[in-house]
Amino acid sequence: MLLGGIEAGGTKMVCAVADEKGNIYNRITIPTTTPDETIGKMVDYFLGKDIEALGIGCFGPINLNKNSYTYGCITKTPKEGWSDVDMLTPFKKALNVPVGFDTDVNAAILGEVRFGNAKDCDNAIYITIGTGIGVGVYINGGLLHGLLHPEAGHILIKPRGDDTYEGCCPFHKSCFEGLASGPSIEKRWGRPAYELYDNEQVWGLEAYYIAQAIADYIFTYSPEKIILWGGVMHNKKLYNLVYKKVSDFLGEYIEHNVVNYIDTYIVKPGLGDNSGIIGATQLGFNELKCIS
Ligand code: ZN
Repeated sequence: MLLGGIEAGGTKMVCAVADEKGNIYNRITIPTTTPDETIGKMVDYFLGKDIEALGIGCFGPINLNKNSYTYGCITKTPKEGWSDVDMLTPFKKALNVPVGFDTDVNAAILGEVRFGNAKDCDNAIYITIGTGIGVGVYINGGLLHGLLHPEAGHILIKPRGDDTYEGCCPFHKSCFEGLASGPSIEKRWGRPAYELYDNEQVWGLEAYYIAQAIADYIFTYSPEKIILWGGVMHNKKLYNLVYKKVSDFLGEYIEHNVVNYIDTYIVKPGLGDNSGIIGATQLGFNELKCIS
């Protein structure tokens, strides 16, 4: 069976054809320009590829309410020209196959649950820390949507006492994304994260915020596995700093063995940078098989 997948981002669109076991046969990357041009190029890519279903993991916020007139649309986004864009109808019309639709991070955790380091978990989360912070949530064997969809990158967390930076989130200033995303590191310290690899102060503070957020996710979602990734996590030293701090924030309140083996509990993605695109093809599989 061939499945199409789109990892739709604000700067690029990754399109791929894979089988139902997650093996990618073909892929291209298309720059995100205007909606008409970008969607047109993606439709052209999939025409003639014989896919049985398509899945789209999309940057947000997006409308996931299947009872809404605007289901499948991007809602209000700072990305110029992309607010209210219908991401579903052009593909349904042109390809005449079922099309699954979810957030980019929900696609990523689905990929990890099916084929990666959260394989066979019923409860797992995928955290990406880069230009923004996003969290995909898989709960009780399905992707979590709820009222809209989780925006767990914007949880409000406690700034460390000595951190005077106000935070860069345009909506909340000092939310998780406002304090710990790549841009927040650059604005706080005056240089991009990759130029600060040897500065222990930078990464101690970064780990403080990431660990605090992870403790909150453990308390609320009770995940069996936590996948931690994104551009900021390319600094490999950060994982160990996060492990130590998570234990501090949990305060011995969570009595479970995973806490004693935290480096196997909070891990990198098994699919590397392919979690999102493989997960997107699985969104298509879910739609074809009517799996919610
Ligand atoms: Zn925010």
